[in-house]
Amino acid sequence: MAVIMDGKATSAKLRKEFLEKVSLLKEKGVTPGLAVIIVGEDPASQTYVKNKEKACVECGYYSEKYALPEETSEAELLALIEKLNGRDEINGILVQLPLPKHICEDHVIRAIHPLKDVDAFHPENVGHIMTGDFAFVPCTPAGVMELLKEYDIDPTGKRAVIIGRSNIVGKPAAMLLLHENATVTVCHSRTKDLAAICREADILVAAIGKLEFVTRDMVKPGAVVIDVGINRNAEGKLRGDVNFDDVVDLASYITPVPGGVGPMTITMLMQNTLRAACIQNNITL
Ligand code: NAD
Repeated sequence: MAVIMDGKATSAKLRKEFLEKVSLLKEKGVTPGLAVIIVGEDPASQTYVKNKEKACVECGYYSEKYALPEETSEAELLALIEKLNGRDEINGILVQLPLPKHICEDHVIRAIHPLKDVDAFHPENVGHIMTGDFAFVPCTPAGVMELLKEYDIDPTGKRAVIIGRSNIVGKPAAMLLLHENATVTVCHSRTKDLAAICREADILVAAIGKLEFVTRDMVKPGAVVIDVGINRNAEGKLRGDVNFDDVVDLASYITPVPGGVGPMTITMLMQNTLRAACIQNNITL
């Protein structure tokens, strides 16, 4: 039976550490500040933003929320970002994606100052992730790496297979595993013999967006299975990209959904915001 990798407990532990670091920062007159911008009424996005605000309170950060109407123009959004870029008490700026269709995500991502880009989506930060010289890491792949660390799983020399090549999960997860010396394969919708490649994985990361897609025949006995997916099943329950019940007795470690990678994502946003505050104030903790 696999060890269940507890993202909730790991998150709680890290958030406590951040809170302690924040009290040291506050002694130096600095409180990490995060601005979260949401445009429109998407219910999933509303929940994510609420959870980000809650995490800020838990970690002792200052936060501002901008809930803008659906019809906000791109120019208005860019003007707000520009204003936040110039404010010292705001260390991180997060624009909740997706944005309404009339706003270009790329323009918005590029407008955020790279030192305040706590989602690490700006091309400058994406480049740093390539070279390995990075301060900010996209939150979901960072959460995956932190969970591996928490459970003493060293990727060195291991065969890692990632299913999914998105810019926010698959690709950066591949780079981070590569920096930790794994031998990495990235699979996607046009990969041939997917199951056979997955069966080679010592560490299998599923970031597909398809309910319970990964089944027993795709998992090597003893593999570490990391499930990034968030899907709803027919009963409306949250489930991952991995068929948990099918795989749990075969894997050595597995993340549940909910309670695995999900909570870690927001915790890594808190980590990036703390780093941003330190960098912008020339403080080493
Ligand atoms: P995406 O839709 O941008 O990318 C999905 C990837 O899966 C694509 O690269 C595609 O090639 C691949 N894919 C699709 N069908 C496939 C198939 N049949 N075989 C092999 N590969 C296939 O999605 P994303 O933004 O990377 O998110 C992936 C999942 O992770 C979603 O369920 C999303 O909700 C979830 N997610 C979770 C968190 C979190 O905090 N836990 C954060 C971001 C995304």
